[in-house]
Amino acid sequence: MARRVMGIDLGTSNTCVAVIEAGKPVVVPNAEGGRTTPSVVAFMPDGRVLVGDTARRQAVTNPTSTIHSVKRLMGLGKSSPAFDATKRRMPYTVVVDTGGKARVDVAGTARSPVEISAMILRQVRAAAEEYFGEDCSAAVITCPAYFDDAQRAATQDAGRVAGLDVLRVISEPTAAALAYSWSRGRNGVVAVFDLGGGTFDCSILDCQSGVVRVLATRGDTFLGGDDIDARIVDYLREAFYRVEGVELNDDPMAMQRLKEAAERAKIELSAMQETDIMLPFLTVDASGPKHLQTSLSRTRLESLMTPLIDQALACCRTAVEEAGLTVGAIDDVLLVGGSTKSPYVQRRVEEHFGKPARKGVSPDEAVAIGAAVQAAMLEGHTSDVLLLDVLPLSLGIAEGPKFAPILRRNQPIPASRTERFSTVRDFQNSVLIRVYQGDHPEVRDNRLIGTFRLENLPPARAGQIRVDVTFRVDENGILVVEAADPRTGLKRSLSVNDSMRLSEEEVKSLRIRVNDEPDDEHDVLA
Ligand code: ADP
Ligand code: MG
Repeated sequence: MARRVMGIDLGTSNTCVAVIEAGKPVVVPNAEGGRTTPSVVAFMPDGRVLVGDTARRQAVTNPTSTIHSVKRLMGLGKSSPAFDATKRRMPYTVVVDTGGKARVDVAGTARSPVEISAMILRQVRAAAEEYFGEDCSAAVITCPAYFDDAQRAATQDAGRVAGLDVLRVISEPTAAALAYSWSRGRNGVVAVFDLGGGTFDCSILDCQSGVVRVLATRGDTFLGGDDIDARIVDYLREAFYRVEGVELNDDPMAMQRLKEAAERAKIELSAMQETDIMLPFLTVDASGPKHLQTSLSRTRLESLMTPLIDQALACCRTAVEEAGLTVGAIDDVLLVGGSTKSPYVQRRVEEHFGKPARKGVSPDEAVAIGAAVQAAMLEGHTSDVLLLDVLPLSLGIAEGPKFAPILRRNQPIPASRTERFSTVRDFQNSVLIRVYQGDHPEVRDNRLIGTFRLENLPPARAGQIRVDVTFRVDENGILVVEAADPRTGLKRSLSVNDSMRLSEEEVKSLRIRVNDEPDDEHDVLA
């Protein structure tokens, strides 16, 4: 019998696993019966590690060792503009390793986002094995469309550390469209609006006779339900300060309670017009304990959300433009991600696109189901749909301060292109190739993803030596660059991630670390 292959939506907030069984999608329940598992890992003082619901539930009493939204740190470096903002927002300690990469410091141990993600993957894999009663080690894992090379590689590495055979890493909106077109067999141009906990994506896809082609994709890795919660927290915190004169910012436990109350209120307001927020003994000062007691209306929530949804819709506008279309050409709008359960979000999206949004596939499960469809296709279990993904960001090299793109964003992948460059100085005997990813005309605004040097060029005048630079992107969106001197055939190549990728050795040692931890949620309950 063919082996079982999973689709895993490794979300910022929640992780979902699906499998195609006898032509039907099955969402794999976790140990507690949930269809999604919180992407939360908690390190307990006694050395136990909790993953999922149990970890999330104890966050209030253990905020600095409860790691949530670690996906925001995946492949993130100190030089990234998002680094400081992310670090500031997390209740746990974010540090950098010697290579400038983000790490989480848990009680003096630095843990990489890859390691934490592997713990989540390992947990959901165990749940699948429990459910099916057999080994489940092959998976397609999804990531945001906007994830760059390093972030995709980190996602793949997390799978390797969890002992998974990662068949492919695909973009979340692509997966969602795949689930949709597979389940309905409909033709047309689809817009996927995915607002989750931490990230937002809008992709425009063309689904024609079983072929899904990504026309454009736009996103924001710092826009999601967490941001809505943060707006509510700010609002409550300021109101509390006005009434009580106490600033809650410096009290991690109070802030964690506030954050949870904000999210609860937000979710309630998807169904109700008004909700009460009650947090007794939130903090104390010289005059005694302070309680927070207030209410929040749907109208107030909507006004707090407006700038965030405006931002998301601006992304949609750009995506439609980049697809070379107008809003009227979109046949269907798919809502994906927990935050699209908000009636305000639904209303705004429907107004923007001028048509009702499809709610056929559950917004929490569409991505995992699409990944499962892709996994089944790769295993040859089903051949109905073909998938063509595109490059999320342009890739190119530096020509002085200017960026020279070689592969352009939205180009279908796998892709390969060679450009010929020539030397700029007399008797130049080497060239330094600096590889960047991004879409800004100045290299300094893009992300440097690697450098290498082509040496031993024969002596010659400026402009006489030619260098062929080839960029090749595989089906996972991962880049290999090659530079060759066409006369001598001399070649240098670099898998751009090599410097950042985990080696087999590192994977092995992390695997031991991830697996040696006592995992059992059952231990905790016993
Ligand atoms: P991710 O893709 O980042 O893992 P999800 O798609 O699971 O995220 O969405 C999680 C977000 O959805 C959280 O911010 C959560 O508060 C929000 N959410 C879940 N249910 C609702 C609801 N009924 N109304 C509004 N927001 C919701
Ligand atoms: Mg998601």
